[in-house]
Amino acid sequence: MSDCTELSDRMPDVALGRAAWTETEQRHLAECADCRAEWEFVTAASRLGATLPATDPALVSTVLLARLAREHERARARIRLWSAAGLAAAAAVIVALWTGGRLGGFGRDGGRGSSTPRVATAPVPPTPPPSPAGSTAIPTW
Ligand SMILES: [Zn+2]
Repeated sequence: MSDCTELSDRMPDVALGRAAWTETEQRHLAECADCRAEWEFVTAASRLGATLPATDPALVSTVLLARLAREHERARARIRLWSAAGLAAAAAVIVALWTGGRLGGFGRDGGRGSSTPRVATAPVPPTPPPSPAGSTAIPTW
């Protein structure tokens, strides 16, 4: 195994403080540009998340379970609301069909008699006969 590979394998442990560079490894780092670039990358990656606050897994799971329970309850409330709306719509359709028989639609009498539409009428005055003299009527041939 080359020096570069050995150094690369030890970088995570050194970056996390679980090991330290030997004098030979430090000399190699000073001379090898590839290992130095890799070392900068590993140390930068090991610092990611270092500024985040420490979290308590038990607290996180408790908060998460509480939130899931609230979401579940909201979903059930929405289902109840839509079910009530569906029942109301079905009731409205039934009422419309039931009262439709009295208004000329389909009713309990099967559409006989009461299915005749009611139309409003008004008396029309009779038209006068055409006058023979000075008639402006259109001639017929
Ligand atoms: Zn190297």
